[in-house]
This record gives sequence, structure tokens and C-alpha cells, in this order.
Amino acid sequence: MSSMNVLEAAFRQLYPERQDAFLFEVKYSAKFSGLNANIRLRGYKMTINLSRKWEEVNDDIKMGLIQSLLNKVFKTRVKTTEMDLYNIFLKRVHVSIPKDKINPLLKKSFDRLNERYFSGLLETANLVWGQKNFSKLGTYEYGSDTITITSVLMEAPEELLDLVVYHEMLHKKHKFSSSSQRNLHHSSAFKAEERKFKEFIDAEKRLTMFLRRKRLGKMFSWF
Ligand SMILES: [Zn+2]
Repeated sequence: MSSMNVLEAAFRQLYPERQDAFLFEVKYSAKFSGLNANIRLRGYKMTINLSRKWEEVNDDIKMGLIQSLLNKVFKTRVKTTEMDLYNIFLKRVHVSIPKDKINPLLKKSFDRLNERYFSGLLETANLVWGQKNFSKLGTYEYGSDTITITSVLMEAPEELLDLVVYHEMLHKKHKFSSSSQRNLHHSSAFKAEERKFKEFIDAEKRLTMFLRRKRLGKMFSWF
């Protein structure tokens, strides 16, 4: 065990029956923000790239992270105690993440929604604009406690922006349920709370219309 690095240890524990002779490589990189990480597989070489933040994290939790990623890479659903530890860690880690990327316009939306739907109790996340993405409107990333909203919505009516921000705030609030085989992000409790948004159905329709118009505008902009 001592000659193995954490990647190999995670792999061997997850797949005891596999005989692959991978070259396992662990790299820490300053390029990643928060607790980001990815696994690269090139021929016989497997590399885990981790943000510098991971250097201070306990090896069991690190193994849980790596095993979660391996399940994605190899399309398996093996469960381990280390993965449970990692999930618990992920649910608590937001407390220690600095909130230094807060866009003022998004913060206004966050505060509005926080007052209206969370009694002002939800702690702020990092709030940033992402790429001009028409299909992925928003994300919440646990590892960096960051809500990212597509730049397409920069000029959207307040209510439509709020609908998307609200969805991501619910992700921050509900986290995920990892009791089942797969992590469940949109639980029934989540969906029920999402429908509390004022005129949810109407706002969703208007959002679709807004995106359609924006996309058309983009298509014809080079005419
Ligand atoms: Zn979602």
C-alpha cells in the first residue's frame, strides 16, 4: 500500500479484479479553482489533476473524490466508505470557501430571492457570469461554492434571471441526497420548492421565449 499513490490506491480498491497496468500519476495544479479535479486517461497513463486546495485534504476523502471520478470514467457505480466521506465533506466544505467572486447584479438577485423564499437565511455563494450558453443556464458547484449563470441572461428581465438563480440557490440549499446509488440532485423536495417560485409556469414559458429570441438574434447577427 505504501508504494501506491492515492490514485492507484483508489483504483485498486474500487476495482480489485482489474489487472490493468496503468501508470498512475497525481498532479496538483494552480490552474484549478476551488476543489476542482479531473481524471485524464491517455493510453496506459492515468492522471488525476487536483487543485492546490486538495493538498491539505485527508487521503480518505481524496480517495472518495477519485473513486467518484473513476465511476464516471469507467461508467460504473461502485460504492465505498471513502465516497461517503467525500460526500459529507462536500456538503460541509462551502463554509471554508472564500466568497470573493460576487457579481453585484447577481448578488441583487440572490438577495431578493433570499428574502422572499429563504427568510434571508441562505448564506451567499460566489456569484459569477459564465459563458454565453443557451442550453446550460446555470450551475452550482459545491467544491467552490459558486453559482454560475449564463451571460445570455445578463440583459434578461429580472424575473427570468431570478428563476434561474433561484434554481441554483435550491441546489445550494438541498445539496444532494447520496443515499441512493447515484447522487440525486433534483429530489421531489427540490422540485416542490422550485414550484413555489412566483408564477413558476409563466416565468418558465417567458424564459423559453426570451432564449429563443436571443438565439435567433445571435444567428442573424452576422447578416
Ligand atoms: Zn438543477
